[in-house]
Amino acid sequence: MTQPEGIPMDAAHLHADVDAAFDAVVVGSGAGGAVIAKELAEGGRRVAIVEEGGYHAVHRDPPFASFARLYRDCGFSGTLGRPAVLTPMGRCFGGTTTINSGTCFRTPESVIARWRDELGLAEIDHAALDRAFDRVEHEINVTVTDLRIMSRGNRIVHELLEREGLHGAPLRRNVRDCEGCGACCYGCTSGAKQSMDRCYLPKALRAGATAYVRARAERILCDAAGRAAGIEAVANGVSGRRLTFRAPVVILACGSLLTPQLLRRNGVARGNPHLGRHLTLHPATKVYAEFEERVEDWKGVPQSYSYDGLRDDGIKFEGASMPPELGAVAMPLVGEEMAHFLKRYAHIASFGMMISDTAEGRMTRVPGYGYVFRYSLTELDLARLRRGIAFLARLYLKHGALAAYPMMARQGSVFRGLDDVDRFERAPLRASEVEVMAFHPLGTCRMAASPAGGVCDQEHQVFGAPGLYVCDGSVVPTALGVNPQVTIMAMATRFAERLLDRELGN
Ligand SMILES: Cc1cc2nc3c(=O)[nH]c(=O)nc-3n(C[C@H](O)[C@H](O)[C@H](O)COP(=O)(O)OP(=O)(O)OC[C@H]3O[C@@H](n4cnc5c(N)ncnc54)[C@H](O)[C@@H]3O)c2cc1C
Ligand code: SF4
Repeated sequence: MTQPEGIPMDAAHLHADVDAAFDAVVVGSGAGGAVIAKELAEGGRRVAIVEEGGYHAVHRDPPFASFARLYRDCGFSGTLGRPAVLTPMGRCFGGTTTINSGTCFRTPESVIARWRDELGLAEIDHAALDRAFDRVEHEINVTVTDLRIMSRGNRIVHELLEREGLHGAPLRRNVRDCEGCGACCYGCTSGAKQSMDRCYLPKALRAGATAYVRARAERILCDAAGRAAGIEAVANGVSGRRLTFRAPVVILACGSLLTPQLLRRNGVARGNPHLGRHLTLHPATKVYAEFEERVEDWKGVPQSYSYDGLRDDGIKFEGASMPPELGAVAMPLVGEEMAHFLKRYAHIASFGMMISDTAEGRMTRVPGYGYVFRYSLTELDLARLRRGIAFLARLYLKHGALAAYPMMARQGSVFRGLDDVDRFERAPLRASEVEVMAFHPLGTCRMAASPAGGVCDQEHQVFGAPGLYVCDGSVVPTALGVNPQVTIMAMATRFAERLLDRELGN
C-alpha cells in the first residue's frame, strides 16, 4: 500500500501483513504523539505512527454522529466513583485535539515551580519549556478570540462581569480564520482549528513519516537484552492484518487513560506502584441561566472567554456553550422543569467551570472486563465546585436572569433567586448530586526524579525499560489548573530535542 500525499494509510484495507523497520515508532496521534512524530521526522528520522482511530478529511456530522465517528466509546468513557465522571476522548487521526475546544494555555509558572520544588523535576524548568511554547504556538497559530465570533453565552458572562467591576479575558485558541460555527467538539467544519490532523501530522507525513490509522497497538516488542524493539498492532475491521514496526525507540502516546493499560498488559513497569495512579481530571461542571432575551447559545465559538478571579482557590471559569440536543442530555432535570428548560432553550445561556483537583484516581482491573479507573472527589474538591456554581448562579441572578440551573440531580436544584443560592451554599452537598464531566485526564504515568516517585524519568523513558518512552498527558505529573494541550505539546517538543541529541544521535 502506498501512502497518499499528506494522509495516512488505512490498516483496515490492508491485503497483507506489514513488517517494517524505523528509527522510532509512535503509538497515538494526539497532542503528544503528533508533535513528537513531526519533530523526529523533520529531524531526518524514519518514523512510523500507529493510530487506532480513523482518518476523516471533512467534518460535517451533527454531534451524535460525530461521537460515533471521532470519539472513543461514542463519547461515553469515564471513571467510576463518587460521582461517576464522564471523561470523553478522541479516537481518530489527531486524537482528542480533533474534537477539543481549541483553548490554549501555557503551563502556569507556579505549577512548574511545584514540579521542581516538591517533585524534584529540576530539568523541567520554565527556560526549558519557553522555547517549546514559542514553537508550538507558532505551529498551531495561537490567536486571541474576537468578541464578535464568541457565543452569546460567553459574551453575556463578559458583560455581567464588567457590570460587577470584574474582568475576564477572551481565550487564546489554535485557529486560522475561525468562522465561529460552534462545532469545535464535533470536528471543525471548516478546517480552521489547528488540531494535530491539520498541522503537525501533515507536516510529519511530508517529512517522510509513515502513518497507519485503524491499527491498534497491542504488543510492545523487546530484544534479548530487554530493550524495547518495536510494537505489534492489529488492523481494525475485517482485514485483521498484523502490523509489526521494529524500532529501537518506542514512544507511547495513547492518552492518560490508555497508555498505562498498554504498559500493564505488556507487563512493563511491573511492581512500580505509580503506574495507573495519580489520575487528575480537572472535574468540570456548568451553570445554565434563562433570560428574557433570545440567546441562541449554540451559535458562535462555544469556549471563547474565561474568568480567573477565583484561580487562587483552584477554580477556573471558561465558556461551555452547547447545542440543544446535547444541553438536553446533559441536564439532569425531570418532568415539568425539564419540559420548560427545553421549550426555553433558545433563551438559555451557559458557562462552565473546572477545578484543580486534589483527588487522585487509580487504575484497577475488573476480572472479565478489563481496566477501569476509580476516582472520587475530595471534600475540598466538592467545596470548590460548590463555590464556583454559587459564583456563576449569583452573577446571572443579580443581573436579570429569570432562573439559574446548576447541573445537579436533586430536588429544588433550580435557583430562582439569590436566596436559593444562599441556601445551596449552606446545605450539605453530596458528591453524587453534582453532574461532573472531565476533559483533561493527566498523571497516570507521571514523570519523576526516580522510580520511587513515578513511572517515567525526565527524558520520558519508562524506568527500567530502556528504549520505551511515554509522551502524552499521562506524564504530566499534577493537575495544571489550565487546559493541558499546549503543556503536552511543549513537553513533546522538549522531548524531541533531547531525543534527537541523545538516543537518535545527530
Ligand atoms: C471535548 C474535549 C474538549 C477539550 N478541549 C480542550 C481545549 O480546549 N484545550 C486543551 O488544552 N485541551 C482540551 N482538551 C484536552 C486535550 O485535547 C487533551 O488533553 C489532549 O489532546 C491529550 O493529548 P494526548 O496526547 O495525551 O492524547 P490524545 O490526544 O487523546 O491522543 C491519544 C491517541 O492515541 C490513540 N490510541 C490509544 N490507544 C491506542 C493503541 N493501543 N494503538 C493505537 N492508537 C491508540 C487514541 O485513539 C488517540 O487518538 C479537551 C478534551 C475533550 C475531550
Ligand atoms: S467555531 Fe467552527 S470554524 Fe471555529 S474552530 Fe470551532 S468548528 Fe472550527
